[in-house]
Amino acid sequence: YAKETGKNHYQYFSSTLKTAHSEKLKIEKQLRKAVDYGNFELYFQPQIDLSQKEVFGVEALLRWNDPTLGNISPGQFIPIAEETGLIIPMGDWVIEQACQKAKQWVDRGLFNIQMAINISPLQFQRPDFVEKIRHVLRKTGLPPSYLDLEITENDLIYDREESFHTLERLKELGIRISIDDFGTGYSSFSYLKHFPIDTLKIDQSFIKDLTSNPQDQAIVTSIIDLAQNMNLRVIAEGVETEDIVRFLNERNCYEMQGFLYSKPLPEKDLERFMLRRENWFATL
Ligand code: C2E
Ligand code: MG
Ligand code: MG
Ligand code: MG
Repeated sequence: YAKETGKNHYQYFSSTLKTAHSEKLKIEKQLRKAVDYGNFELYFQPQIDLSQKEVFGVEALLRWNDPTLGNISPGQFIPIAEETGLIIPMGDWVIEQACQKAKQWVDRGLFNIQMAINISPLQFQRPDFVEKIRHVLRKTGLPPSYLDLEITENDLIYDREESFHTLERLKELGIRISIDDFGTGYSSFSYLKHFPIDTLKIDQSFIKDLTSNPQDQAIVTSIIDLAQNMNLRVIAEGVETEDIVRFLNERNCYEMQGFLYSKPLPEKDLERFMLRRENWFATL
């Protein structure tokens, strides 16, 4: 009997593995087409400063609606794009589109906000990465101070010397550097000491249950203190409730990103959101 269960279990396991594998191949195949046709869209999630009652930036988030597979979340396709190297052309597309958009908003006198872009380790580690950023800034005419690159802790430890050098050159361009998902990587305080970083983004896993979980409270309080003592900006990600906002404000954290304020929006909806923001802030 035990043997049989074992066998069934094995069969079940192997068939789900197969499904997962063919699923991945399907996504990869369609992803290649999407890259060829530029078949992606950028959404933008507002970043709010409650102390100034202002939107200081947006985070560009990639969206993919495949004609055969439908909507696939970045959580599904980004890892596959990273494994296959497709993240390089996709990332190039994101950087160029996002910079172009931010520049258009400035030119049309709509709003002046920072554009935050997620950068994958593979992109960051490429020898031509800084040159690429410089090129896009020149090509689009976006002032460097409008650009904020989000990297994760793990990107930095892969090759510390090289990462340090890359960050220094990015800072020389005049752009900002944020550490995304802060607290979830292989952190070490020494990189905070040495690396030229502007902002810590507190990972949403610490924010989600903040008002009920004492461990999250201790961690978030410590990250905020750390950032403030080191003169870094700190943003809370994944803010969904007023209670969370209160907790953060009591600790002098006023920069927020989350569904409570806005989901990531397509361009047109973001423009509407921005045009109405004064009235909206008045209600807060
Ligand atoms: P991330 O960089 O940490 O982005 C924040 C994610 O949290 C986004 O998910 C956003 O929609 C979601 N989010 C924001 N506020 C809330 C909230 O209040 N509650 C909840 N539950 N979620 C919230 P999204 O767009 O699905 O992206 C997931 C991840 O995929 C991103 O995490 C980022 O690591 C990656 N990603 C997205 N776009 C790009 C891109 O253009 N390039 C690269 N390399 N990675 C990207
Ligand atoms: Mg991010
Ligand atoms: Mg990210
Ligand atoms: Mg994050």
